[in-house]
Amino acid sequence: MKRTADVVIAGGGCMGCSVAWHLAQRGMTNVVLLEREPQLGTGSTGKNAGGFRHQFSNSANIALSIESIELMKNFEAIVGTPIDFHQDGYLFLLSRSANVDTFKKNVALQQQHGVDVRWVSNGEARELSPGLDLTGVQGATYCPSDGVADPNGVTMGFAKGAQAKGVEIVRGCEVTGAKLNGHRLTDVRTSQGDISTPILINAAGPWAKSIGRFLGVDVPVEPERRHIFIASAPGGGSWDDARHAGRVPRSKILVIDFESTFYFHREGGGLLFGMGDPGEQPGFDITVRWDFLPKVIEVAMQRLPALSDAAVSHAWAGLYEMTPDHNPIIGPSSDVDGFYTIAGFSGHGFQHSPAAGRILADVIAGRDPKFDLTPFELDRFARKSMAGEANVV
Ligand SMILES: Cc1cc2nc3c(=O)[nH]c(=O)nc-3n(C[C@H](O)[C@H](O)[C@H](O)COP(=O)(O)OP(=O)(O)OC[C@H]3O[C@@H](n4cnc5c(N)ncnc54)[C@H](O)[C@@H]3O)c2cc1C
Repeated sequence: MKRTADVVIAGGGCMGCSVAWHLAQRGMTNVVLLEREPQLGTGSTGKNAGGFRHQFSNSANIALSIESIELMKNFEAIVGTPIDFHQDGYLFLLSRSANVDTFKKNVALQQQHGVDVRWVSNGEARELSPGLDLTGVQGATYCPSDGVADPNGVTMGFAKGAQAKGVEIVRGCEVTGAKLNGHRLTDVRTSQGDISTPILINAAGPWAKSIGRFLGVDVPVEPERRHIFIASAPGGGSWDDARHAGRVPRSKILVIDFESTFYFHREGGGLLFGMGDPGEQPGFDITVRWDFLPKVIEVAMQRLPALSDAAVSHAWAGLYEMTPDHNPIIGPSSDVDGFYTIAGFSGHGFQHSPAAGRILADVIAGRDPKFDLTPFELDRFARKSMAGEANVV
């Protein structure tokens, strides 16, 4: 491992790998990325549902989506790795009039950004996603250019591309501390010795707070467990088999019941679904809570009756990386020179990793990122001036 570097990145999830790739594209290749696990992308990135959407409530997040989805669409041509990219849309189902009103503002904002998003009738919603029970649904929004892609493909694509340009990626190496000279970073301490560097990027996802502690900087990111379940077709086979026609969508459309946060999309021959638990407390435990499944199934069966006789073949849990306003932190610390954060994406980071990595790489390379980072500044929490993201699923 190198003992001096221009930049050290802590964390080899989609964020760390995206910044590494974008730095390398800008000619900054004296970079070391450190991942404490034996493999890249085993944190939140390895647990996620692969969804991407333009349907956010905050202008800055919509802008991140537009740029990120454009790069993902052309990922294989630009970065060199296939990512199983599908634009079959996101369908939001709204059952409370207050949420319909909020989404009216959101849709108008998304349209101002040029996003093709629209209201659909319950009949259209059923055509888009056969098998839905829309009892109580007062409104639905659909954006055909939302979709799903492969998070591992994106992460490994960025990592391999960065390595090919000279970035050093060290697995099984933990960042354990940092040395400062006054307010300036001088060294990063690791489980394999120190690296002398003027810049440390905190890309540690749900663990971002602990990296901040090494430098005496408060990085307010809290871990929160989220589950994903996979439902196989009853009696085996695939949901695509003729006997299930009309019971579940054939496309990879991602449907979200906004009030309950229950969502699903097709995954291979099965169905992937999940839901947030309002009672979940912050913590790093990712044990699957099988006692939560009946609560999810109760909601799931109402919206997608096909799930009532499905077999849940497997499940996993991962961590959302929540900030107080559900917006990410992208940019420098004003307390320690040379300390940057790209973390706290509050459950929608996979889809924003391409643009977020580009923006931070521009900042570090001294280029104009052409993006107003005010809503994502670390200092916003101290200023208490936050206009966060309301559309968290
Ligand atoms: C169940 C679930 C579903 C999700 N669905 C979606 C979705 O559909 N769409 C979407 O956009 N997002 C989704 N997300 C969110 C998304 O997964 C995250 O926002 C994103 O993966 C964050 O990436 P990251 O690189 O910041 O964090 P991570 O992937 O967690 O990477 C951080 C890395 O840092 C490493 N690390 C930590 N501490 C140290 C240290 N001291 N030294 C070295 N390395 C360290 C960790 O081992 C880890 O590999 C979902 C998340 C979950 C849990």
